[in-house]
Amino acid sequence: MTKINPTQALLKWYYKNGRRLPWRTIGSAHKSPYEVWISEIMLQQTTVATVLNYFQKWMERFPTVQALATADIQDVLLTWQGMGYYTRARKIHECAKVLMDQYQGQIPTTRDELLKLPGIGPYSASSICCFAFNRPETVVDGNVIRVIARFYGIIQEVNASTIYPLAQKLTSLKHGADYASAIMDLGAMLCTPTNPKCNECPWHGLCIAAQKKIQNQIPKIKKLEKKEKAGLVYIIRDSQGRYLIRKRTEKGLLHGLWEFPWQEVTTAPIDASKVVHVFTHFKLTLYLTSGKTNICPDGIWVDKKDFKNYPFSKLMQKVVAKL
Ligand code: SF4
Repeated sequence: MTKINPTQALLKWYYKNGRRLPWRTIGSAHKSPYEVWISEIMLQQTTVATVLNYFQKWMERFPTVQALATADIQDVLLTWQGMGYYTRARKIHECAKVLMDQYQGQIPTTRDELLKLPGIGPYSASSICCFAFNRPETVVDGNVIRVIARFYGIIQEVNASTIYPLAQKLTSLKHGADYASAIMDLGAMLCTPTNPKCNECPWHGLCIAAQKKIQNQIPKIKKLEKKEKAGLVYIIRDSQGRYLIRKRTEKGLLHGLWEFPWQEVTTAPIDASKVVHVFTHFKLTLYLTSGKTNICPDGIWVDKKDFKNYPFSKLMQKVVAKL
């Protein structure tokens, strides 16, 4: 009996069933490294369904590295608004400037050069090499961790580093871009976190977890406990009904975005209207309250209808929805 080659089996499945996405070209590397770079950064903490909308809007607004490099940061943040993790947008903007200054507006083709750029870490560098230049890079995201852990039937706790060497063994040397897309699609479409569709899977018959019927127990991943924080957000209006907002100047998570003045507190008020937002490492509950102008000396007065001109974080958009 001929032994099935898992890499070939997966590629065959992908050519027939893979998702058609605007930043992907099935059968080769994608024609635009710029589109690959932007989509890769967007996809880091955002689902494909959400990125599809933003990607199109982004490409209309900033069709080239040059258009992005010369854009105002406020415009970049407004186009990104709603996707969260705004550091990504600021780094993309910074990176576009470096690309114009030092790389004639081109995306470098080697991993070492890519790693020198702002906002591009080892994962993004591998992804860009793979999807834009068809290199046989092993790209390990959450989907790949789950698929590989199940394929090899690993019941111990896993993470990207423990999965990497196993994933690397299956990577196609000739079809790097297709293979990386294929394994991600397998994770997103069939090898889903619960109730994987093993009967439709190209690895059915090869997969140890499926043979042992332990798919739903794999992967074991250590969950980080999220800290809980609380704060007061001050809703202050002038005689014309305008709201007091300020630009965040502090370096960090929400730098450069606009917000209603707020501060962290240790005791939460009872019965106040509130919004809850979950960041990567903590959960924040903001309680809406009134306040005086002196709370926010650096603020400006803005009509609610003009909020669209000010990039707000997802957290602050939740506050706006409560007004
Ligand atoms: S057979 Fe099932 S568990 Fe194994 S890789 Fe395929 S979908 Fe996942």
